[in-house]
Amino acid sequence: MNTVVDIQGLSKSFGSHEVLKDINFSVNKGEVVTIIGSSGSGKSTLLRCVNLLEKPSGGQIIYNGENILDDKHNVHQYRKNLGMVFQSFNLFNNHNVLGNCVVGQIKVLKRSKEEAEKIAKKYLRVVGMEAYVEAKPRQLSGGQKQRVAIARALSMEPDVMLFDEPTSALDPEMVGEVLKVMKELAGTGLTMLIVTHEMEFAREVSDRVVFMDKGVIAEEGTPEQLFNNPKMERTKAFLQRTR
Ligand code: ADP
Ligand code: MG
Repeated sequence: MNTVVDIQGLSKSFGSHEVLKDINFSVNKGEVVTIIGSSGSGKSTLLRCVNLLEKPSGGQIIYNGENILDDKHNVHQYRKNLGMVFQSFNLFNNHNVLGNCVVGQIKVLKRSKEEAEKIAKKYLRVVGMEAYVEAKPRQLSGGQKQRVAIARALSMEPDVMLFDEPTSALDPEMVGEVLKVMKELAGTGLTMLIVTHEMEFAREVSDRVVFMDKGVIAEEGTPEQLFNNPKMERTKAFLQRTR
């Protein structure tokens, strides 16, 4: 198995509040892993620790066989390998759609403007937003903004894409278009780690599902195991609540 990111014994505290406790899991190349769990269980903090938007309090993040939490590792270098899509899109409002998808490529990856635009257009096509290159974010619907945010992250051609509840801020009629794009991406062999409340989607796209409860991984398995045959009482209780 070709492991991309391996999380070992990860913990995170904010002051005396221990939000993540002894988290162990890995994401393999080409795998789609979803993280589910109640609000406040630590899902966002875990994703933010994986891409070092938060500094873990303990444990290891092994990437390409090395612990990137060692001081000698360059955080910026590591983060180039991870794409992140947030609940709230976080587009640059002063840039148009194309601009949003090229700035990172030019600044961080040092690509030429021409090359960056070519790559951006390729991924805007993937998410069905190629007709909107000139549009400003304020002219777009939530679903369109989120698809641009996905294209922006893909344009960096990361090893892993991280999604933190990408449809939670959307009006219900726009959830489907974003999930459709994500399902298509999952089918291309892209490595994805997704926090979601969309249980049907998780069941459909996941190779593995991780259930978090109160800062720990309570249970992990295939969608079939976790949704149809949960072992833990707290998994059962959570799934009951989401029905
Ligand atoms: P989830 O994404 O599963 O809803 P979060 O990771 O956002 O959960 O939050 C887990 C817990 O960590 C919550 O109790 C939250 O209040 C706390 N928390 C998250 N971020 C911070 C922060 N920057 N400072 C203090 N507490 C935080
Ligand atoms: Mg969250």
